Amino acid sequence: MSTLYDERTQELIQQFRQHFDGEPTLVSAGPGRVNLIGEHTDYNDGFVLPVALKRDVRFVLRPRADRQVRLYSAEFGEEGSFDLDAIAFNRDKLWLNYIQGMAQSLEQEGLRLTGIDAVFSGNVPRGSGLSSSAALEVSTAHALLAASGQEGIIAGPRIAQLAQRAENKFVGVNCGIMDQFISELGRENHALLIDCRSLDYTLVPMPEEAALVIGNTRASRSLASSAYNERRRECEEGVALLQQVLPGIAALRDVSSEQLEANRHLLPENVYYRCRHVVSENERVLATVEALRQGDLAEVGALMNASHASLRDDYLVSSPALDTMVDAMRSVEGCYGARLTGAGFGGCAVALVKPGYEQAIADAVYEQYPKITSIWPEVYTTKAADGAQSAPLPSV
Ligand code: ADP
Ligand code: MG
Repeated sequence: MSTLYDERTQELIQQFRQHFDGEPTLVSAGPGRVNLIGEHTDYNDGFVLPVALKRDVRFVLRPRADRQVRLYSAEFGEEGSFDLDAIAFNRDKLWLNYIQGMAQSLEQEGLRLTGIDAVFSGNVPRGSGLSSSAALEVSTAHALLAASGQEGIIAGPRIAQLAQRAENKFVGVNCGIMDQFISELGRENHALLIDCRSLDYTLVPMPEEAALVIGNTRASRSLASSAYNERRRECEEGVALLQQVLPGIAALRDVSSEQLEANRHLLPENVYYRCRHVVSENERVLATVEALRQGDLAEVGALMNASHASLRDDYLVSSPALDTMVDAMRSVEGCYGARLTGAGFGGCAVALVKPGYEQAIADAVYEQYPKITSIWPEVYTTKAADGAQSAPLPSV
């Protein structure tokens, strides 16, 4: 509670008073995320290692006696509303669909929700690969569950799946499970190892000497979605071809580097390189977990650097902007390693940094990156934060 009752929440309470009569009674938050390592492994049944950010999408709300959901988006300066009994895609207010989709997904699970009045806002940058969409979905889930007195009824991993279903089926974005999972289940000062096949997960303590700096390239990601679909196809083709000799495999997750090398001749060149990224990246995720447990941050940094090289050279999803960002971060003493994070082409890079060196890295990025790209970047520092939560607000 103490962490949720801060200046941002108080500002939302002010806005609630302006839009609705009376006081909100509840607050909910869902954080954004950054993936430390394990990129493009999720849809190959592999491993990912994200952390939740100290940035979230937050609702202040009051339950209603009926089934109306009345909302005000502080960022868009827009009102939006819907009836829980008449949920339909809204072409004009895309943000409303994340909330409607989440409500529908919860009700399809057999829960009966109650309406709410709510004001919400987020400080997760939108459309930058830090998953403001999952933050919005998961925060919505907790807002609606808390309002109807049903929080705790659904386990965290299931909430994450329901949020993913909302984004896949209602909003129409083909995302994996990682973002919703970490937004729901993140823990302060921990990364979360997720097995994207079984959905088993393990909290991995982040050593004290590890801080994170995120550089937002603010470069266009227009290539990202077509390339994403193409990479997925190439991975599927790799699995189909390798199954001729490895009938036991269901996904690239099941293939070792040795098996891939031994059967390289079966694969077209492009497919081989895509597979090599996924297979080696899965191995790097597990090696990173081991290195974190040993407190060997130099090794974690080296694995992050190797991940970037593999994404750039084998998976072909980096970009000049991302490469420039990563170079700027690595140019500073105190940077253990840096890599692009998220699907690629634009979005963000993440650096693992010795505490105390965050500002030096931000300075280097602001100094070097615009000179080469002519784009003004943004830099965020964060430590691993808690996942989604809700709390009652003190009554006035
Ligand atoms: P990402 O998840 O990488 O930030 P997406 O395109 O998946 O980018 O999701 C961004 C969308 O999520 C926004 O266009 C908007 O519709 C919705 N969204 C995220 N945060 C907010 C917010 N604070 N207020 C309103 N809508 C938001
Ligand atoms: Mg998203």
